Amino acid sequence: MNSSDTVELFKKYVIPNYGRYPVNLVRGEGSLVWDSENNRYLDLFPGWGCNLLGHCPPKVVKAVQDQVAKLIHVPNTWHMEVQGLWAQELSERSFGGQAFFCNSGTEANEAAIKLARLHTPKQRYKIITFEGGFHGRTLGSLTATAQPKYHEGLGPLVAGFNYAPYGDLEAVEKLIDEETCAIMVEPIQGEGGVRIPPAGFLQGLRKLADDNGLLLIFDEVQTGCGRTGNWFAYQHFGVTPDVMTLAKAVCSGIAGGVMMTTPAIAPSLRPGMHAATFGGNPIAAAAGIATLQAMEEDDLLAATKRLGDFFRTRFEKLKQECNIIQEVRVVGVMVGVELTVDGAPVVQKCLERKLLTNCTHGRVIRLLPAMNLTMEQAEEGCKILEDVLKSVAAE
Ligand SMILES: *Cc1c(COP(=O)(O)O)cnc(C)c1O
Repeated sequence: MNSSDTVELFKKYVIPNYGRYPVNLVRGEGSLVWDSENNRYLDLFPGWGCNLLGHCPPKVVKAVQDQVAKLIHVPNTWHMEVQGLWAQELSERSFGGQAFFCNSGTEANEAAIKLARLHTPKQRYKIITFEGGFHGRTLGSLTATAQPKYHEGLGPLVAGFNYAPYGDLEAVEKLIDEETCAIMVEPIQGEGGVRIPPAGFLQGLRKLADDNGLLLIFDEVQTGCGRTGNWFAYQHFGVTPDVMTLAKAVCSGIAGGVMMTTPAIAPSLRPGMHAATFGGNPIAAAAGIATLQAMEEDDLLAATKRLGDFFRTRFEKLKQECNIIQEVRVVGVMVGVELTVDGAPVVQKCLERKLLTNCTHGRVIRLLPAMNLTMEQAEEGCKILEDVLKSVAAE
């Protein structure tokens, strides 16, 4: 089916809650993707951050193919080796914790919110989150998301969320009272425009949490699983959270979400208090294990750091030549180029040149490339973006 017939199909049968490009994508390989007219696109935003190994990474494809023929789904009333091994792989790369499995980022955060309320004394229920943050679309995670535009018309929201400016420790301290149970934060804000915290901020949150008996929750849905060049972003800052949530890249594009916490805290999520029917299913687990192993076998954390250096150098240089670039923020394959102008036309012009990018927070061009992007592809993508940004600056 061609792109225009597919668009018609959507008009008739699919709820129009997304702004979609009029393009029907049919297959992908690494950082390339093709539409039904056989146009080739270079994808610097594969799978909205989920395809950290690019499209259809062979090792993950193989693991899923093998697993799907053996066992697709059994309920969490049974043990499954593959889920246990997945938990071990995640635990050994992070802080030695235990895992609760679900299917998405918002669900992982809901689990974290419930855990925080269950783990702390009964009167404690308030959670401090941050302006510009993003935690998901279900009502708890949505309330945690301190961005009014996402709340419009949906109230009343969930009680007990207080918002502080990102980076402002004093504001956090003022919000803490005897009903506060947790602080929830993205160690690097994604949707909020690839915002890197000021020095000492996460350390300060750790101290406030410790001093006041709060759980420190890091939402690593976007930053986790190698995106920043470490397994998890918290490892850059030398601050270990009590709870960490993962999704997006965790299964290379198969639906999967995880909440990790320490063995001391984990029993507070006691039997009967939380569940996810599909959580930790064998296919997600097989994909999750293959994802981590492929990154390790192919030494992709090092490649991620190299790509980050490449993008930073290129865009910092471009900033000198192009007056619409305000700031360049890069950690591994998480790239934010903040403009002084609206970013949507830049994304549109890149699309016309068959380069897939994203704009977030109005003025931030965001790239979440695959960690196995080749240097030639990185060069190709930067060249197009440079042309487009210069042409927009000249308008
Ligand atoms: C995408 C995202 C979420 C929500 O994940 P879903 O899988 O869409 O529910 C939560 N937190 C962060 C930091 C994200 O980037």
